[in-house]
Amino acid sequence: MTPAAATLVSPGRQALDSALLQLDQAADRLHLDDGLRTMLATPRRSLTVSVPVRREDGRMDVVQGFRVQHNTTRGPAKGGIRFHPSTDIHEVTALAMWMTWKCALVGIPYGGAKGGVSVDPATLTTRELERVTRRYVNEILPIIGPDKDIPAPDVGTDEQTMAWIMDTYSVNAGYPVPGVVTGKPMTLGGSLGRAGATSRGVQIATLKAMSGSPEGRTVAVQGFGKVGAPAARYLADAGCRVVGVSDATGAVVNHSGLDVADLRAWVEETGGVYGYRHADALSHEDLLELDVDVLVPAALEGAITAENASRIRARLIVEGANGPTTPEADRILADAGITVVPDILANAGGVIVSYLEWVQNLQACSWSAKEVDTRLRDLMEESFDAVAAMSAERGLSLRQAAHVIGVGRVAEAHRMRGLYP
Ligand code: NAD
Repeated sequence: MTPAAATLVSPGRQALDSALLQLDQAADRLHLDDGLRTMLATPRRSLTVSVPVRREDGRMDVVQGFRVQHNTTRGPAKGGIRFHPSTDIHEVTALAMWMTWKCALVGIPYGGAKGGVSVDPATLTTRELERVTRRYVNEILPIIGPDKDIPAPDVGTDEQTMAWIMDTYSVNAGYPVPGVVTGKPMTLGGSLGRAGATSRGVQIATLKAMSGSPEGRTVAVQGFGKVGAPAARYLADAGCRVVGVSDATGAVVNHSGLDVADLRAWVEETGGVYGYRHADALSHEDLLELDVDVLVPAALEGAITAENASRIRARLIVEGANGPTTPEADRILADAGITVVPDILANAGGVIVSYLEWVQNLQACSWSAKEVDTRLRDLMEESFDAVAAMSAERGLSLRQAAHVIGVGRVAEAHRMRGLYP
């Protein structure tokens, strides 16, 4: 595809094309037959809904919402809900498919799902956001539930969103149902360790992938939200020097090392990293191309593409975001000898602790922070070791190996269940 033609395709469609290509390559390596390939390439259930929202001035807007359950063969569907203006059905389908492989890869009993509303939360008041959330949840109510499909936070949603979802579902059910969502506030049955879980998983994956001590290793983080900001802190805690950070407002660099806690306080105060006084400004592109040991893309899909991959100087990329590297970029990075810890492994800490939260909800119990963290660390490390072993044994990249394991487990579950009727 020419670069001009590529721009005609939505970012969501590009993400779905990447996901389908990764599936196809894994299916080739697993020698899957055509029927099974089609099953795995096709979501089991896709719902598009119209969400009417009453604005503060009395106007009514209608926004589109989606929930895609890509696969439920290994367990109930599981996946986040994204509020972002460019979210479309293709992006949500790609993200749901990646969730399926991720859950299988880390061995938790879930299928994959994702939801989204094409809305910019920054343009809504809190009351409008609550109305959008509750109405969207009402529209997808028939297909979610603690045994069916369990949402969680993603880009543009947070603990408060999950609390409104839990409440809307519970009011409709007539009794409290904490297990319908994860990433809830502690007071509603959330789990200790869930808020930073994806980032803690990024830290564990980074330390596993690094040869030698993390002390003094330089890090750049793209995206300073729920994943990127705590990931920067965890990596700094491990001894790394976080030198560059970006978010939607801009990018900042300080080669002596950023004080991550101070930067977070600045972001809390001003709404973004732009203008941070103890660092120099740089462009979004330059942040990705910093000469660092580790680059953590933790924003959106398609950050590292055929256009910029050859300028990436990091030795190790750990994908906090889903789908930040396109398949063309993957090839360029591999040729340059850059190791990429793929999204379905690197950011699996979030869904692992979501699973632990759900188990606590179903059992009406709560575990200590230490217990949650130990289980998270064990699952992340075991999964990393399995991927590294498969990569070494078959001469595959970590992404290829992770997909062979994830897709292979789902394919095996399909074979064992058979086809009804
Ligand atoms: P978030 O909304 O909390 O944060 C997103 C961050 O990215 C914000 O700081 C935003 O300003 C920044 N950003 C947006 N566009 C950018 C750009 N062009 N350049 C630099 N920064 C930009 O979202 P999140 O929950 O942190 O999710 C980030 C990524 O991690 C997504 O790909 C998401 O699917 C993935 N992920 C999230 C979780 C989770 O538990 N939240 C789990 C697994 C994977």
